Amino acid sequence: MFKVSARAFPRRSPIFSSKCFASTLTLIETNGSKISPASLSTLNAASKLNQPITCLVLGSDAKKISESEFKNLELSSSNLKISKILYNENSNFDHLLAENISNILTNLINDSKNDITHFFANSSSIGKNIIPRVAALLDVQPISDIINIKDSKTFIRPIYAGNAIATVESSDKLILSTIRSSAFSQISSDSSINNSIVIEELPINDSDITSNNDNKITWVSESLTKSERPDLSSAKVVVSGGRGLKSKENFDKLIDPLAKALNAAVGASRAAVDAGFVDNSLQVGQTGKVIAPDLYFAIGISGAIQHLAGMKDSKTIVAINKLEDEPIYKIADYGLVGDLFEILPELTEKISAL
Ligand code: FAD
Repeated sequence: MFKVSARAFPRRSPIFSSKCFASTLTLIETNGSKISPASLSTLNAASKLNQPITCLVLGSDAKKISESEFKNLELSSSNLKISKILYNENSNFDHLLAENISNILTNLINDSKNDITHFFANSSSIGKNIIPRVAALLDVQPISDIINIKDSKTFIRPIYAGNAIATVESSDKLILSTIRSSAFSQISSDSSINNSIVIEELPINDSDITSNNDNKITWVSESLTKSERPDLSSAKVVVSGGRGLKSKENFDKLIDPLAKALNAAVGASRAAVDAGFVDNSLQVGQTGKVIAPDLYFAIGISGAIQHLAGMKDSKTIVAINKLEDEPIYKIADYGLVGDLFEILPELTEKISAL
C-alpha cells in the first residue's frame, strides 16, 4: 500500500535514513564479464538507504565477476556499503529470465536471516519483468522507475510520461523497486581501493529454477545492433536527429559524422525511427530510451512531449531547428535557429578540427 503526492518538477536531494540490521538486496546485471552501467547506477541508488547492500550475481560467469568486479568500487560520498556478494554459476541464469529466478529471489527475501528490507533491480526489460513477478509472489506493492529516494519508505518517481513527479510513501515492510538508471550516477572503480566483501555461493536447487517456469519459457536468441558508437543508454554525449533530416541518407551523412567527432551515441525521435532513418533501438522518449547525458543535441526535432520525456533531464541541451518557436527551445540551454543542412557540415568540421 502507498500514498502518493504529486508536484510538477523534481529536485534531486540527498537522502538517508538508517536501520540497524536491515539490508538491501540488489540484482546485478552483467555485460558478459562486467557489471552493467545500469547496475552501477542501481548500486548508487541502494547506497542512499545507508544500510548494507547484498549483491546477487547469477549466470555462467557469476563467480568470476563476483571476485573481480566489486572490490574496487567506490562512491565519492562514500556511503556504498556492499557487505556481501551472493553468486550462483548456472547457465540457466544467463539471461535472468524472471521465470527462472523469481522463486529463488522470493526464497532469499523470505529468509529472515538475510534481513532484507529492500530489493532493487534496474528499470530495464529484465528488472521490469522480474520485480512484478516477485512482488506478486510476496504480495507486496512494487514501486517502479524510482528517480530519487527521500528515505527508506519514501520514493520519487515520474507519472504521466514524466509530466508530473509523484512522491510515494510505502507502508509495506518490504520495498521492491526498479531504479531508473539515468537518475543516478554510476559508482566508479578505483584500483587503489580494495574493499573487503564477503563472497558466498548461493546454493540453489534445480527444483527452485524450474518450479516457477516448468520449462515453458526458454531463451531462444537475441539480435543486437552493432555500433562503433557508445551505448545510447549510458553515453555522456548524445546526438539525436528527427524528421527534419528528411531521409536516411541525410541522417547517415549528417548525424553520424557529428556523433563521431564528439565521440557521442546516436539517438533519434520516433518520427525518424518510424520513417526508417534508424533502428528503433535508438529511439529516445516515452516509448524509447530514457536518458540523461551530460550533453544532448536535438537536431531537426520539434520537442514533442513524448520526446522530452526521454531526454529532458540531460545536463545541457542543444537544439538545432529552423523554427524558433518550436517547443524544443523551451528546454534547450543553447539553440541554433537555422537550416540544419547548412549548420551541421560546418559544425562537424569545426568540432573535428579541435
Ligand atoms: P516533427 O515533429 O515533425 O519535427 C521535425 C522538426 O524538424 C520540426 O521542428 C522542424 O521545424 C524541424 N526541421 C525541419 N526541417 C529542418 C531544417 N532543414 N533545419 C532545421 N530544422 C528543421 N516521439 C519520440 O521522439 N519518442 C517517443 O518515445 C515517442 N513516444 C510516443 C508515444 C505515443 C503514445 C505517441 C502518441 C507519440 C510518441 N512520440 C514519440 C511521437 C511524438 O508525438 C512526435 O510525433 C515525434 O517526437 C516527432 O518527431 P520529430 O520531432 O522528429 O518530428
